[in-house]
Amino acid sequence: MTEIKVLQDILSANDRIADRNRRLLDEKGVFAVNLMASPGAGKTSLLLETIDRLKGKLGIAVIEADIASSLDADRIGSEGITTIQINTGGDCHVDANMLNNALESMALEGIDLLILENVGNLVCPAEFKLGVDRSVMISSVPEGDDKPYKYPLMFSIANAVLINKTDLVPYVEFDFRNFSRGVGVVNPKAALIQISCKTGEGIDDWVSWLLGEMGK
Ligand code: MG
Ligand code: ZN
Repeated sequence: MTEIKVLQDILSANDRIADRNRRLLDEKGVFAVNLMASPGAGKTSLLLETIDRLKGKLGIAVIEADIASSLDADRIGSEGITTIQINTGGDCHVDANMLNNALESMALEGIDLLILENVGNLVCPAEFKLGVDRSVMISSVPEGDDKPYKYPLMFSIANAVLINKTDLVPYVEFDFRNFSRGVGVVNPKAALIQISCKTGEGIDDWVSWLLGEMGK
């Protein structure tokens, strides 16, 4: 019981900071997206594809969260996009305070779209409210069609579920109907978008969903 109480206290402290993030983002007119997925599902690849299509049209900034290294931040930074690195120091998720520190250290003026690449993990990133506008998750074909059944919390909080690596469908067992049924059970309102960062399939659908959510 005590453990549950401690977790509740941590989460309610987190929620207060998430509200602060919300106000800061509103004040600066920034639309923020929390991008979540398991390691290797294609978060950084999706970011690169997204930046490729929106660079020059929108002010974009990226926050890269990793347990260690700045490999992804270096890749995004080489696109000429404002990139902030968070090393979570071993934590397997970003909490509202980590995001707050990053936001406080950035020049948010002129930024229309801020994407946080969360730590690769399908579990606890879903438990920490951050104060962002939208939560987006990527699930990839090689991970299997059972993921919505195994990680219902993550799927239930996502405004959009992207299924990446559709180019691999001929080579692996993946039943799209089973996958989408699973998403429908936990989160019938989620947008379900099939993409391949390799072939470019569906990337335009994702970008138009995103722009629609931004009211652009
Ligand atoms: Mg990455
Ligand atoms: Zn964690």
